[in-house]
Amino acid sequence: MSEHVHVRLSQGMGVSEDGLLVEHSRCRCGATWTKVYEVEDGEPE
Ligand SMILES: [Zn+2]
Repeated sequence: MSEHVHVRLSQGMGVSEDGLLVEHSRCRCGATWTKVYEVEDGEPE
């Protein structure tokens, strides 16, 4: 079977113990990803 193109379906967002914003996503094949966004102190607005 040839490689398939993963489809990252968002599983929701969360906040880690360090206060970082974490996005969980997964493909229907079972692959998973975790993307971390660093949230800096002092928002632009
Ligand atoms: Zn996949």
